[in-house]
Amino acid sequence: MTRWPSSRRALRRARAREQAKLVREQERLARLEPGGTPERALPIESPAEVEVIAGATPCPLCGGTLRLVEHAAEVLAGIRVRVAHLTCTRCGTARARYFRLVGQTVH
Ligand SMILES: [Zn+2]
Repeated sequence: MTRWPSSRRALRRARAREQAKLVREQERLARLEPGGTPERALPIESPAEVEVIAGATPCPLCGGTLRLVEHAAEVLAGIRVRVAHLTCTRCGTARARYFRLVGQTVH
């Protein structure tokens, strides 16, 4: 069994803190991107685009592939949006991307 000297353990703790800070920062940036929040919902013309766009976007934390768990129509903060609930296949982070249906032609 390996016993870590306290200084190395402290170093590991410092690294873990650093990592957590980095993840928080990346989460913050991801929310600022289009589709990161209901207010920033990505405009789409057809609900089918949700799956295409969501599947083409890599995980902002690790660059892994995001898997679509659920595609739902929701009303958030008074805005009707399509929500793609995603999970990263690499780091397992759950993520939501928001879309707004626009330019629907009425026949
Ligand atoms: Zn990931």
